[in-house]
Amino acid sequence: MPDQRTALHVLEHVFGYHAFRGEQAAIVDQVAGGGDALVLMPTGGGKSLCYQIPSLLRDGCGVVVSPLIALMQDQVDALKELGVAAAFLNSTLSSDEARQVEQAFVAGDLQMIYVAPERLVTPRFVQLLQCTKIALFAIDEAHCVSQWGHDFRPEYLQLGLLAEMFPGIPRIALTATADHATREEMVQRLRLEDARQFVSSFDRPNLRYTIIEKKSGREQLLQFIRRSHEGDSGIVYCLSRKKVEDTAAWLREKEIRALPYHAGLDASTRAKHQQIFIRDEGVVMVATIAFGMGIDKPDVRFVAHLDLPKSIENYYQETGRGGRDGLPASAWLTYGLNDVMLLSEMIESSGASEQQKLVERRKLEAMLGYVEATDCRRQTLLGYFGEASQPCGNCDNCLNPPQLIEQTEAAQKALSCVFRTGNRFGVGHLVDVLQGKLNDKVRQHFHDKISTFGIGKDTDEATWRAVYRQLVARGALRMSPDGHGGLALTDSARPYLRGEAPLFLRARTEKFAYKARETGF
Ligand code: ADP
Ligand code: ZN
Repeated sequence: MPDQRTALHVLEHVFGYHAFRGEQAAIVDQVAGGGDALVLMPTGGGKSLCYQIPSLLRDGCGVVVSPLIALMQDQVDALKELGVAAAFLNSTLSSDEARQVEQAFVAGDLQMIYVAPERLVTPRFVQLLQCTKIALFAIDEAHCVSQWGHDFRPEYLQLGLLAEMFPGIPRIALTATADHATREEMVQRLRLEDARQFVSSFDRPNLRYTIIEKKSGREQLLQFIRRSHEGDSGIVYCLSRKKVEDTAAWLREKEIRALPYHAGLDASTRAKHQQIFIRDEGVVMVATIAFGMGIDKPDVRFVAHLDLPKSIENYYQETGRGGRDGLPASAWLTYGLNDVMLLSEMIESSGASEQQKLVERRKLEAMLGYVEATDCRRQTLLGYFGEASQPCGNCDNCLNPPQLIEQTEAAQKALSCVFRTGNRFGVGHLVDVLQGKLNDKVRQHFHDKISTFGIGKDTDEATWRAVYRQLVARGALRMSPDGHGGLALTDSARPYLRGEAPLFLRARTEKFAYKARETGF
């Protein structure tokens, strides 16, 4: 039934969607027609359909290379539910299971197979490929081929061989993160010289980005909802399950229709809450990042973060769930230095490899650089994804350009205090030393005897904390690796120490007296 095999037909009858999004139709066309493609599309943009539909349209089995084992399983489960004959091959399978999948693949019983890159290039698998009809090769997370990127995977380098070994078979490479240099590297290493490039913008012009200093996070959230989003549907992201529960309960006390969602709730409660959120209007879902994958609710009017996301990619993806209908929506975030400490501790205690920890620390620093930025948020965000743009006129910094005050000298003092105390104390203690507070901890470490004791008396605590945040954001200070929230100088600290690099801070628009440790800021 060749007339049934049009892209739109498959979109509707297999996937249940009515229209293609953005460049999907053109990409599907290109690949289904036998051409190569390089696809740059933001996370959540709908990359999967770009190879899933051509796999179903073409004869043979679509071979998808993916480095993310957990995602492989999810995708295959979802495809099976839609009636697609899909399977995956990776290290989680027993050798018996793997053999069964291989047999089905060679017998031509599969429409799609997901394979880990290291397996694809084994002689054994290449042999299987040679005696099977292949619809296409899809290379997901294609930026992993870049040696300069954060996610370099050596196995990816060999994927260029596919071009020579299977010249007639279309290849599609996809990624959500690639600046210009990485794009060129992908073309060259994956042998995609003849591929058509599809570059989607990461811009979400209807989102208004706002970031504020955390004082009493949830009070600020409540004010934000009451002022700008009374009765709207929204998502509030928190880092921990407990905070999700507490915040949802607290919002309900304040007569906001809030529901909790996190992986610790049983499946039926989660499904129920998700259903209510999608079906009803004006529900606020308070959630961990477990919530959102595959949720397609167009009229989410705000996404609020009560805790700092661990990377710009996460932030972009989570805020991207707002305003899918194209109407104005808010991306609101409140954060303080404690968030940074907490995330930093999580990285250190994660048990990941040193290399992985380094990557995660860099990502956190980039996130900090973004939240501390004093110019256009959108421009900063798009710049991170390698896209040039003009100031948006719609974010907090564009609408209310912050007044800047020079704090270069304060930065010098703040950094020398880190140095004099041995590169291992947290901000609370450093500020006590700068302000000359004679408490037990100061006495115990003889920090009342060092030259930076009391040199910052006439600057308030909030300003000192802002100085430290900025210095962390700019990479002059790094969390010391023991994970106890101590700060240490980096090489980038030198120009600040010498007073050669200026540091400007937002002027404080309001004087508020608060005790930092009580409010968690
Ligand atoms: P990516 O891989 O780019 O992050 P996905 O392929 O996972 O994005 O798609 C993100 C979400 O958008 C999924 O829930 C998917 O079902 C949905 N989606 C993709 N394309 C369409 C479409 N044309 N219409 C409706 N929903 C879509
Ligand atoms: Zn702006």
